[in-house]
Parts: sequence; structure tokens; C-alpha cells
Amino acid sequence: MRFARHLLRFFLPWACAGCRGALESLDDTGFCGACWLSIPRIHGLICKTCGLPLKDGGLFCFSCRQNPVPIIIRAATEYRGVMRPAIHRFKYSGRKDLFHPLGALLRYAWSQYSEIRDIHGLVPVPLYGKHEMSRGYNQAELLARVLASEAGVPLLPLLVRTRPTRPQAKLDRLNRQENVRSAFAIEPLASDYLQRLRGISLLLIDDVCTTTSTLSECASVLRKAGAGPVKALVLARDL
Ligand SMILES: [Zn+2]
Ligand SMILES: [Zn+2]
Repeated sequence: MRFARHLLRFFLPWACAGCRGALESLDDTGFCGACWLSIPRIHGLICKTCGLPLKDGGLFCFSCRQNPVPIIIRAATEYRGVMRPAIHRFKYSGRKDLFHPLGALLRYAWSQYSEIRDIHGLVPVPLYGKHEMSRGYNQAELLARVLASEAGVPLLPLLVRTRPTRPQAKLDRLNRQENVRSAFAIEPLASDYLQRLRGISLLLIDDVCTTTSTLSECASVLRKAGAGPVKALVLARDL
């Protein structure tokens, strides 16, 4: 086994997910020490609804004071600095191994926010089928799996994406809502399950929250199908 790991390293040198520097050992850390320390973790005062960091105190962010998002969201880190290349490599460059360190960040956030722990199951935000097939995995599901085993909460893949959507970052607010409208549905095999467990409380898991539209839409689909409160925990929040 040890030999196999060294052989693997020979062909696939393990690089830091942030700076691409060589890592000392072939373990699950994924980041060099400097990049790991530079991860922009979210802590301190945050908006009680959408989880955005609040620089000037108060309970809610400016946006939620005007028009509160219909879902409680918490995030482990901001989507900047080393988190951008790391998540890009996790999603698009075959660095599936990064679910270990990125999952650890999510677990830490879970331990910080008691308001999202009162739930019965974790629901990963799904990819469109073809995208998942070409990538070989859904990154949100890998992260949710790490948390499920740590938290002792079942992983419930209750949602499917019924059509591909455009990257939310490139759209304005109205187009973002339109982009994800009717893009999600209950997994056909899961609708009975939700009916039987009416009122079950769920936590959506995703890698990046660029806008709140995707999470709000997923929560709305789950609630219409019989779920109770739906909240969300994401790895990184694009501010
Ligand atoms: Zn590094
Ligand atoms: Zn807010």
C-alpha cells in the first residue's frame, strides 16, 4: 500500500491546492501550511439570516434589512484568496482528494453554528446529470458525506437538477432567479419518503454560494414536497 502511494506520487505529484507548491507528505492535508493559515474563515459577527460577515455590527446585513432571503445560510469561509483556486481544482481539475481538507472546514463551521444543527438530514445541491457523469462526482455530495459521518446525520440526496443552469456569478439579480427557476425537482424515488416524513428539517449543502437564489429555490422545492424548515451550510460565500 505504501509502495502504491509512493508510486502514485511519482506520477501525480501532490501539490498544494492554493499555491501549487509541492506538499511534504502524501497525506490528506491538501494545502501547504501557509495557504492553510491564509484561508479566509468566517467568524465573528454575521447576518442572522444570510450569514454574511458584518463589519459594523448589528443583526442583519444591509441586503437582508431591505429584502431578507427566505433561508438561513451559514458559510465556513469567504470565496476569495486560496479558496478560489482550491475549489476550482476540487471541481474541475480532478482533485477529488480535496474533500478531506475542505470537508474539515465545513465540519468546523457546523460545530460553530448551533442554529443549523437541529436538523434530520443533509441534502447536497445536485449537479445536472451530464455534468456529474463527466466529472465523476458531485462535489457538494462529497462534502455532505464528510459532514454526515461526523455529525451522525443521514445524507439524503432528495433533489435532482432537471436542466443545466448558467453560472450565477455572471447574471444580475432577476436573471439569477430566472436561471434557477424550475431547475430543481424532488428525486422521483424520494417523494414518498418526504410525504411519510412530513415536516422533516433539512440542511442544504453546497460548495459555493454566489447568490442566494440557488439555495432559496432548492429550499422552496423541498418545502413544497413536505419538508419542514430548510437551512443551508456552504463551504465558501462569495461576498
Ligand atoms: Zn500553498
Ligand atoms: Zn443578510
